Amino acid sequence: MSTPKEPSAPVLAGHGRNGEHDRDRDRDHDRDRDRGRDHDHGRDEDHDHGRDRDGGHLSILYRGPLSSCDYDCPYCPFAKRRDGPDRLRQDRAALERFTGWVTGREHPVSVLFTPWGEGLVRSWYRRAMVELSHLPHVRRVAIQTNFSCRPGWLAEADLDTLALWVTYHPGQVSYERFLGRCRDLAGRGVRFSVGVVGLPEHLEHARRLRADLPAEVYLWVNAAEGHLYTDPEAALWTAIDPLFAYSRTPHRSAGQPCRTGDTVISVDGEGTVRRCHFVPAVLGNLYDGTFRPRARTCPAALCDCHIGYVHLERTGLYDVFAGGILERVPGALPTGPSVHGGVPEGFQPQRAQRAIGMPARRGTQTT
Ligand code: SF4
Ligand code: SF4
Repeated sequence: MSTPKEPSAPVLAGHGRNGEHDRDRDRDHDRDRDRGRDHDHGRDEDHDHGRDRDGGHLSILYRGPLSSCDYDCPYCPFAKRRDGPDRLRQDRAALERFTGWVTGREHPVSVLFTPWGEGLVRSWYRRAMVELSHLPHVRRVAIQTNFSCRPGWLAEADLDTLALWVTYHPGQVSYERFLGRCRDLAGRGVRFSVGVVGLPEHLEHARRLRADLPAEVYLWVNAAEGHLYTDPEAALWTAIDPLFAYSRTPHRSAGQPCRTGDTVISVDGEGTVRRCHFVPAVLGNLYDGTFRPRARTCPAALCDCHIGYVHLERTGLYDVFAGGILERVPGALPTGPSVHGGVPEGFQPQRAQRAIGMPARRGTQTT
């Protein structure tokens, strides 16, 4: 277990701050919740994104009560945790209520499931993914997953809409089995990203995976908590993930325009709406109509999780991940690495999705 970083400057690398499917999302949630309290004075500083509301399109990060996993990652509090029958029933009912709400919308919606645990080993998550993928107003439905499940259910989904955020956990699954799953996904035409946590012991696994994955599959690397990457170390990871610079250090976000709370929201199993998973202030409830989207600046000092800072305007990551914001699939990859912690040298964000072989999408999706 690594040591949580200090919340004060200098800005250090963080683990789990990039939305990987591991325990650190839990810890970072608590940490950023505290930060959010410290900086709530900035909550009401309205700002104008100058953004097109895009037909009322709303991106939702959904996290229900589920908090169990079939894996046993040594760095995760959900490892081998068991949800009892009541908890599972509660999670299923909450998910079905949520999908029912999405089904009834008259505006475009995109969904990323971010369970604290593994969702796809539960039939109701697979069903929700399939059902939502077929709704004409759903532009994207994606989930963070270890993808330990069998892939057959994907045949029922609309693969123009469904996508996966897959995390590789060396030690929990054999390399050959995981690579085989990735190749199977690619063969099916499933849109997905694959990632690893940038721990030193993962480096060779990540290199090998990068070499063996189809070139069009993006392999992301999340900076590990407690790790300060020297430039030479960062260069090793950047050689695997040209976008590692975005993860290497947290983003200073206080008072900065962020799309969350407006065109992006976080929703829990009871329908409670927050702007993101990291700021505790409640903005209303999805089901009783008390949530009203409103642009606000970020109240937290730092944003160090990909599923958060991708929406922070100053990062420019809506251009980088054009067409694949929720599932972390970039529109095009940089042509040259950088080890300086900034935007990789030579990076030219493009919307040319053909560069990574993306399947065709409906509409003019931005996420
Ligand atoms: S796969 Fe499971 S045990 Fe491993 S980090 Fe993700 S939730 Fe935790
Ligand atoms: S930048 Fe956005 S996503 Fe990140 S903590 Fe602030 S409000 Fe949340």
